[in-house]
Amino acid sequence: MTVPTLAPEGHLLIVGAGLAGYHTARGVRAHGHTGPITIIGEEHRAAYDRPALSKAYLTGAAAEEDLLLDDPEDPLDVTWVSGVGVVGLRAEPLGVHTDDGAFHTADAVVITTGASALSLPSLDSSEDRGGCAPARPYVLRNMEDALALRDTPLHGADVVVVGGGFLALESAATCVARGAGSVTVAAGEEDPGARRLGSPVARAIRSAHEARGIRFAPGARAQGLRRRPPSDGGPHYEVLLGDGGVLPADIVICAIGAEPRTEWLLDSFVRLCTQSGAVLCDDTGATSVPGVYAAGDCAQWASHSSGLRPVGHWQEAFEEAAVVAAALTGSDPVPLQEPYFWSDQFDLRIQGVGRIHLADDVTVVDGTSDGGDLLVHYSRDGVNVGILGINRLRDVTRWRRGSRIRPASAEAPGPTPVSA
Ligand SMILES: Cc1cc2nc3c(=O)[nH]c(=O)nc-3n(C[C@H](O)[C@H](O)[C@H](O)COP(=O)(O)OP(=O)(O)OC[C@H]3O[C@@H](n4cnc5c(N)ncnc54)[C@H](O)[C@@H]3O)c2cc1C
Repeated sequence: MTVPTLAPEGHLLIVGAGLAGYHTARGVRAHGHTGPITIIGEEHRAAYDRPALSKAYLTGAAAEEDLLLDDPEDPLDVTWVSGVGVVGLRAEPLGVHTDDGAFHTADAVVITTGASALSLPSLDSSEDRGGCAPARPYVLRNMEDALALRDTPLHGADVVVVGGGFLALESAATCVARGAGSVTVAAGEEDPGARRLGSPVARAIRSAHEARGIRFAPGARAQGLRRRPPSDGGPHYEVLLGDGGVLPADIVICAIGAEPRTEWLLDSFVRLCTQSGAVLCDDTGATSVPGVYAAGDCAQWASHSSGLRPVGHWQEAFEEAAVVAAALTGSDPVPLQEPYFWSDQFDLRIQGVGRIHLADDVTVVDGTSDGGDLLVHYSRDGVNVGILGINRLRDVTRWRRGSRIRPASAEAPGPTPVSA
């Protein structure tokens, strides 16, 4: 047990009604907190989980209610304040200002405001637009974004997806499933994912997409988007590439990354990372302001900078929420699992576990890069540090079970020797 930050009857205020916010509240209640909990979220809807937004929700296979985080059979005992944005944090007295002019006091505040999608700039001048709004790509960060794309007819459309990460590739796969006429991925690199995951994995993913008709544009980065003159006929937009190339498109989807939603903290005493803008925290989620914690995609914990944790994955947000809940209530520290992520593209389930980003070598253990089945091991200095499987559920699960639990501290041990 550690010293609790929050008295059992104290008021906990959570900013951001997403994954980390929801699970912080659930964790705090599970540790016996009896005081009031308020969750303030800017979205006008019940808290939901995001991964399906680029997968089953986009194809129509999942409905909004399938994504809801709260369990109607066992609802969280909290006060939800929805459709209200938080615009500032005050340390003394501790609390937050909201965009409806209110000030909400609290005994502890947890910041879980996630991230916002980066987008491509519009390159058309006001004359080119002829009174139309600037060309804007679709992005995928929240339910509104996904709804806009889901409600857009794709049948026969020429789609360009900008970005080479999982979100981009998942979006490309769903466009094919929805009958797009052509789908081109402008990844900004020749072999999307090769630097992060190694060539065998990048090749396997690319060949699965190409086998379904998806085209990969040359490696030049996209610079922006503009409308095409109506006199040219054909698609309404074009994506301009850094090498001067142009990709015509009826629909442009941009998945080039995200930035932490911390703009509302700029005038506070909460320290932010000068590069990413994320809230800097220790490995219990504590920020530079006493009584204020942060978790999830908006936060950078000490172990992130030491390379032990990836940012922007579901498991990290979920586990950080559990650590913050334990720290707030003075409960036993939570042991964290090795980092884990997954992605679903067509019939491929891609799962990575361990410290893949630290690896200096990738070995194919089984399967091939041109089938829907691959198992690779990552090692550093000859020690196995991670594994990635494509349709290898059992191998990945076994590795996860066997891998050593890491402590919630920046002095985490080095790579984990595990045999799969
Ligand atoms: C489309 C999509 C697909 C994904 N798929 C996968 C996947 O397959 N595998 C995987 O491992 N991870 C995936 N992820 C990542 C995972 O969903 C995120 O890491 C996780 O949602 C982060 O949780 P969070 O609580 O930090 O942020 P969020 O879930 O983004 O929640 C933050 C909430 O705070 C609100 N907010 C922001 N600013 C304010 C403010 N000032 N006032 C009030 N409210 C505010 C936001 O509107 C939002 O509701 C995906 C993410 C997206 C967007």
